[in-house]
Parts: sequence; structure tokens; C-alpha cells
Amino acid sequence: MKKQPVPYKIYLEEKEMPTHYYNVRADMKQKPAPLINPGTHQPMTAEELEHVFCTELVKQELDNDTPYIAIPDEIRSFYKMYRPSPLVRAYELERKLQTPAHIYYKFEGNNTSGSHKLNSAIAQAYYAKKQGLIGLTTETGAGQWGTALSMACAYLGMDLKVYMVKGSYHQKPFRREVMRTYGASVTPSPSDTTEVGRRILAAHPDTTGSLGCAISEAVEYAVTHEGYRYVLGSVLNQVLLHQSVIGLETKAAMDKYGIRPDIIIGCAGGGSNLGGLIAPFMGQKLRGEADYHIIAIEPASCPSFTRGKYAYDFCDTGMICPLAKMYTLGSDFIPSPNHAGGLRYHGMSPILSELYHQGLMEARSVEQTSVFEAAEYFARIEGILPAPESSHAIRVALDEAIRCKETGEEKTILFGLTGTGYFDLKAYEEYNDGTMTDYIPTDEELARSLAKLPKMD
Ligand SMILES: *Cc1c(COP(=O)(O)O)cnc(C)c1O
Repeated sequence: MKKQPVPYKIYLEEKEMPTHYYNVRADMKQKPAPLINPGTHQPMTAEELEHVFCTELVKQELDNDTPYIAIPDEIRSFYKMYRPSPLVRAYELERKLQTPAHIYYKFEGNNTSGSHKLNSAIAQAYYAKKQGLIGLTTETGAGQWGTALSMACAYLGMDLKVYMVKGSYHQKPFRREVMRTYGASVTPSPSDTTEVGRRILAAHPDTTGSLGCAISEAVEYAVTHEGYRYVLGSVLNQVLLHQSVIGLETKAAMDKYGIRPDIIIGCAGGGSNLGGLIAPFMGQKLRGEADYHIIAIEPASCPSFTRGKYAYDFCDTGMICPLAKMYTLGSDFIPSPNHAGGLRYHGMSPILSELYHQGLMEARSVEQTSVFEAAEYFARIEGILPAPESSHAIRVALDEAIRCKETGEEKTILFGLTGTGYFDLKAYEEYNDGTMTDYIPTDEELARSLAKLPKMD
């Protein structure tokens, strides 16, 4: 059979878009560890979780067994406005690198929020709305998640309160304005609107905030206001479930042309885009049907996989959320102030943590100046201005393609291009000015935050 030539962009037709989310936990023999109640150290029950999350999402969070979960028509309709996203064959990049490797990337930046986060935002808002809730609360760091959720809430007519990490709030005023344009109210965190915020402010008056701290505030607002629930843009099992549309579309597009990736690369903050991209491939790997070399990329300044500990930890600085077993740097770890490349969360998805622990994927850390070098190289050839987060994956895709040039191997490399970098130009400015520096935390610094892991018996 003669293979069809692969076009620059492989689009699926609307009718080929996934009808079901794929739940990789169903194929894991050793399941990810359950969320634990910080008071009793017992697994969180559905009833306890329903104080924080809406009922359908609690069900998804706890479901380790159902492989395929139908995507409601309302969510699919929303997806159709900006999906399927293109799978791009990076012919020009290959030519420039003179590599025999075939490079593909799945581009999730083609929507106003500028990232893959919209895939889960619309799902979470939809289930909350269906339950009759009036509003949602959340945290946002760089702002992509808050923007995505404000778009979803605007579409469904729901209220949204966003706690935005104070440093980003001041550094990225335009992000804030996009959220307000979609009707969200945005508060810099830590703030004096919550008890936990006031406590953190009293202890650290000059803090620029952290994701963990913003989470604590958003959760407190939700549990103290009738009709509100808290939603989270990464880390949780339900988020990885929704993000499986990325991998399902990618696999369907590749299957059309008989393409099989050898290496799959994704950046990892809390793990949602990577978990989504690899889901169907990891499923095959777990069922023994195929093998893939999967690589998670994280910043050297926030190295949860490569230097963290696999242990139960708090998901938030305020220590009010359930405990999750994950690769973590400790819940009060804050990356050094010169860190500009995103992916700042101290922990990692329990699903990916368990898969990594079992040796089913590799993890690498990269320094931010080399990330921005890769970002600019990519932008100048492929045209897309990548998000700094995504550029972690670009860095390693380039490294692997260059390695193929040296060895003459014709490998197929797939990476997740999770978003665009229009709101990250401060970081690009630092890089272009030559003032960007790298910082790698010392073992002593990591030991300090790891010493505060909760004691489990
Ligand atoms: C949030 C974000 C990430 C990291 O989050 P994950 O949950 O690890 O996927 C990566 N890229 C972009 C563009 C983001 O907005």
C-alpha cells in the first residue's frame, strides 16, 4: 500500500472528533494513590469531596475503572468552535535542522485563552452549571487558566472569582483585563478577602504570592459561599481526563496517515497537557500493545519529577486541601523570583507521578535561558510565538532531533505545543535584553521545603 504524503497540517473532520474522554487509570494495574483527608488520614470520600467539587466531577475524580466516559453534547458543541486543533508536521524545522527525524506538534494555542486549558475549563463549568451552581472560584498563576475559565463561565452564564498570584497580577495586567472582559472578577493573592490570605499576609507582608496560596484562598471562598464550587486547572485526575481529547485527536490524526511516534514530549507543570497528550499512547503501552519513549520536561528551577520526593503532600500552601501522593518539592516551595518560564507548581499529577514511579516515562529538567533560546529558534522558523511553558517541550524536541542528525536515525518525534506567548513578552524581553539568568535550587533549599511534608503513619 502506497503511503499518502503527510500535509503540513493534519486536521480531523468534525465528525472524527472524540465522542468520549479516555480514562488512563482504567488500564493502570497499580492505580494512582487516593486523595487523603488531612485530618483523619483516610481516603477522601465522595461526600467529603462534594464540599469542594461538584458531584459529577467528584465521580470522575474517583473513577479508576471506566475507560471511556461520554463527552456531553453541550461540551462537544463548545469544542467544535475551536477544535479539532491541528497536528502540524514541522517540515521547515526539519529542513533547517537538517535532521532525518520527523517532527510533529499538536498545537493547542488556537483559541483566545491561548492554551489547552480551555478543554477542561468548559467541562468543569458545564458540570457545575448542570448541578445548578451559580458560580466558581479558582486560582491562576500566569493567567491562562483564569482566562480559559472566564471564557467558559461567560458562555454558560456563570459567575467567576479568580485569585491571581500577586506577582503575575502586576506583571500581566493585560491577562487580567481579558478575564474581566469575559466577566470574571480578579483579586491579587494573597488578599485580605479570606482568612488564609490575611494569615499569609501577616506572616509575609511583601510576598508576591504563589499558586498554592491562591488555591487556598479560592477554596476558602468556595466553601464559605452558598452555590459556589472551587475548580482547578491541572493536577487532578478529572483534568487529565478532559485533556485526553488532545491525545485522542493526535492519535486519530496520526492513524489516518499510518504515523507512529517513537518519542512523545510534553512540558509538565501540574501534568495536565502531558497527561492528556500521552493518554491513548500510554493506554497502549499499559495494555502491552505498543511502546513509546515518553518524556516529561520541567524547569530546572522547579524540578518536581527530577528532584522531588514521591510522597503525600498538601496541594496548597494554606494546607486546607486534601493530601495527594505525588512527586513534590514541598507545598511551601516557591521558585526563585527570577524564574520566568511558568510551570511553577510544587507538585505533579498523581496519575503521572505513579506512571513515572513505575518507570513508564522519563523526566528531564531544562534551564530557562536554553528554553527561551529554543522558543526563539522555533518562532523564527515555524512562525508561532510559543508560550514559555510549551518551549520546555520545544527545547527537548530540538535536542532529540539534533541527536537524530548525529546518529542518522529517522525517528518520529511528537511534542505538545500547549499555547502561545503573547502575554509572556516581559519574559521574552528579559531574554532579548540578555538579563535572564538561570537559577537551580540547592539541595539544602529543597531539603528545607521537603522537611515540611506532612508526617504520615
Ligand atoms: C498551564 C500551562 C501549562 C502547564 O500546565 P499542565 O497542567 O502541566 O499542562 C503548559 N503550557 C501552557 C501554555 C499552559 O498554559
